[in-house]
Amino acid sequence: MEAPAPRAPPLDPSKCHSTVETMRCSRCAMSAETVSHNGRDVSADDARAGGMVKFGHNLYYCDRCAKIL
Ligand SMILES: [Zn+2]
Repeated sequence: MEAPAPRAPPLDPSKCHSTVETMRCSRCAMSAETVSHNGRDVSADDARAGGMVKFGHNLYYCDRCAKIL
């Protein structure tokens, strides 16, 4: 008789999974965290909710630096 090998349950693609993304200001290096859902890119709205301004792919300014610019 074989003992069943312990195996991680398969990931359910229909299940929502969230990851914490760190956004770092390109100017003053201040960082803020936001949650991205289902591995999607952090949207401009998500960035704004975290107090950051998105201006490119994985490029952010904090609210303060965005105002100075
Ligand atoms: Zn900044």
